[in-house]
Amino acid sequence: MVHVGIGYDVHELVEGRRLVLGGVEIPHPKGLDGHSDADALMHAITDAVLGAIGEVDIGHLFPNTDPTWKNAPSRIFLEEAARRVQARGGRIVNIDASLIAERPKIFPHLAAMKTNIAAALGLAERKVGVKATTNERLGFVGREEGIAAMAVAAVELPED
Ligand code: MG
Repeated sequence: MVHVGIGYDVHELVEGRRLVLGGVEIPHPKGLDGHSDADALMHAITDAVLGAIGEVDIGHLFPNTDPTWKNAPSRIFLEEAARRVQARGGRIVNIDASLIAERPKIFPHLAAMKTNIAAALGLAERKVGVKATTNERLGFVGREEGIAAMAVAAVELPED
């Protein structure tokens, strides 16, 4: 049986932080604020995978009050979500995700992001979709106050 999950995340763009999306550090005057490396794309995908197997969300698994996750690479969260799928006897069928960012240009980095996400989840790269769009200058994303990401995951689980 294929189960689907959805994930959504937003982080604020601030000065003095690195911009890391899909595990790729992108040169930009601002970076995403957060407890970990604030990789909104990996966070949204983590939540999509966790949602597909009916587990609690990333914020509960990896609380931002826990110093363990301070500046942690978000690949760890993806790896844990994949481990939980495996523990349930399941397998991830595919992932699809969209980044919503006004700037910087995301397209040149999409291939590297896919490589990182596929590696963290133990998936073939062709099973990972990552796309990017602007917000047409509207709202907080349009004002470059933050970057958002959304994702879906399909996970095959044994019947119970
Ligand atoms: Mg987050």
